[in-house]
Amino acid sequence: MRKKIAAANWKMNCTLQQAEDLLNKLAAVETHLSNEKISIIGVPYPYLLLAKEKLQTKENMFVAAQNCYTKKSGAYTGEISAEMLQSMNIPFVIIGHSERREYFNETNAMLAEKINIALEYKLQPIFCCGEALSIREAGSQNSFVENQLKESLFHLSEEQILQIVIAYEPIWAIGTGKTASNEQAQEMHQHIRNVLANKYGTSVAEKISILYGGSVKGNNAKELFAQKDVDGGLVGGASLNADEFTTIINSL
Ligand code: PEP
Repeated sequence: MRKKIAAANWKMNCTLQQAEDLLNKLAAVETHLSNEKISIIGVPYPYLLLAKEKLQTKENMFVAAQNCYTKKSGAYTGEISAEMLQSMNIPFVIIGHSERREYFNETNAMLAEKINIALEYKLQPIFCCGEALSIREAGSQNSFVENQLKESLFHLSEEQILQIVIAYEPIWAIGTGKTASNEQAQEMHQHIRNVLANKYGTSVAEKISILYGGSVKGNNAKELFAQKDVDGGLVGGASLNADEFTTIINSL
């Protein structure tokens, strides 16, 4: 059975003190997690080890980095390698968030390299895809997302693709308070699963978790997560509030 996942993406938020406070709260709240229902907390690099320490007694709650570089090591000032993350026992890494694509010019080809190096160092990538408003208005969201998957993931073997978590995040819904409707989310998630099935077969596609991201809140998570092909969420703004994020976790 594929996992249900509530993933947090703190982005570039929180001072050290605020991060500590939020992690203490997350460590203290009651969450109904299991092997099949997990939570992943994507924190800024400087707080990765702190997050691991604070959440160490929290079963089925894991820590993620929000990015890594394409290269193994070397003269790339300011970058972070997959090997560094592996050496810190970080199990997950977010790859290809739309903000990375937009502000840091990350292309599908570059993201394929990041996926490769993450897998080489045994990190599980949370691969983000999703269309801008203009693409949805033109009605070409399905082919756009399909192309993102093809160019960044379809070189992977069956064994490798099973390591990937996909996050569908329509850019027009990220941080805007405008959520995709349950139907829009289900339609795209089903499309993504069909695209995966065409390439890797149905039984592989059925095992891959596909998360929805875009203004998921405590009051809409349950309905979204109830859609057949929506296996949880990647949550930005609402993950900065421990109570709200707990509601989202417990909506899995
Ligand atoms: C995100 O950062 O991935 C995201 C979906 O943000 P928000 O929940 O704030 O829309």
